[in-house]
Amino acid sequence: MSVIIKRLLALAEKRGVCVAELPGLDNAGYFVANDGRFFIFIDRSLRGYKKTAVLAHELGHFVRRRIDTFAVVQDCDMHREREDMADRCSRRLLMFVRKGLWG
Ligand SMILES: [Zn+2]
Repeated sequence: MSVIIKRLLALAEKRGVCVAELPGLDNAGYFVANDGRFFIFIDRSLRGYKKTAVLAHELGHFVRRRIDTFAVVQDCDMHREREDMADRCSRRLLMFVRKGLWG
């Protein structure tokens, strides 16, 4: 397991986010907020950088949880914007984690 993913997992744990790897997901990862509790589910088949990138992306949703409503989004543009913001957030998160400044 890479240092980066270990730091991301430590960050998730520190923030109270439960991370689980599950088989057979129909998406690479999910972030779920339910009743004040937070969960990230990652497809168990992912390896290496893809797994790290998916975890960072889902943590990006966690960071933005107060901005995103997590209501089911029917509007494709709104969904794409939400995903783009999670990607931007994950890139910043990975930069800080690589430098050892966060996590
Ligand atoms: Zn996403």
